[in-house]
Amino acid sequence: RKDLEQKSLEELDSRYEELLKRNSATLKKFDDFPLSWRTLEGLRECEYLEPTEIQRDSLVYSLSGADVVGAAKTGSGKTLALVIPVLECLWKARWQSQYGLGALVISPTRELALQTFSTFNAVGKNHDLSCALLIGGSDVEYEKSRVGSVNIVVCTPGRLLQHMDENERLVCDSLQMLVLDEADRMLDMGFAQQLNAITSNLPRDRQTLLFSATQTRNVKDLSRVCTKDPVLVSVHEKA
Ligand code: ADP
Ligand code: MG
Repeated sequence: RKDLEQKSLEELDSRYEELLKRNSATLKKFDDFPLSWRTLEGLRECEYLEPTEIQRDSLVYSLSGADVVGAAKTGSGKTLALVIPVLECLWKARWQSQYGLGALVISPTRELALQTFSTFNAVGKNHDLSCALLIGGSDVEYEKSRVGSVNIVVCTPGRLLQHMDENERLVCDSLQMLVLDEADRMLDMGFAQQLNAITSNLPRDRQTLLFSATQTRNVKDLSRVCTKDPVLVSVHEKA
């Protein structure tokens, strides 16, 4: 079993480069992407078979390890466009449950964080990764006890900062991936300062994905601070 997984990891690696050269119109199904069997199986069980446009166009880059700034309207499927690369990034790094926090996903509201958390649990159920939700309005002491042993954290900005300040068990030193979801909305809600405070606490050597419904000036400013040479992926509605 271990040998098999090793082999499939090496095979995946060789397929990312090939992916960048492919015409994206030939990528019709999730099966056409170099994804771990664990993720593919999870997608199948949730009946996600074909990627949406933003998923297809961003996965090509996010799976290859690039920073991505993605813009597509509400309802276009940005959640899976972040959940899949987070799972695959940790899978490629052979992340073990005892390695601690590997990925951080920041959402503007509790409701959106909860939706993303549910998608991680559903699509990621065949991975040996743990995921925690850190949002205001739930028991902070319970959250604190969970944080020390968790691999993926989905959170709102204020609550994450509270943990960064008060909870020595939240260690971000080995973070592989940061995701800012609904970035335009977070900025509209006045979270710019909090986001800067958070990212200044994170390792620089990481992959960053930033998603938003619109590409505003503020989103561009935020992406300049948080991402390195990002690929811009923008999906417009056809007239
Ligand atoms: P956004 O974040 O862009 O507003 P969501 O990620 O919340 O969009 O997705 C909107 C809806 O589309 C959700 O109900 C989700 O389950 C569904 N969806 C997303 N991707 C797919 C897909 N590849 N196939 C089928 N349904 C999908
Ligand atoms: Mg969304």
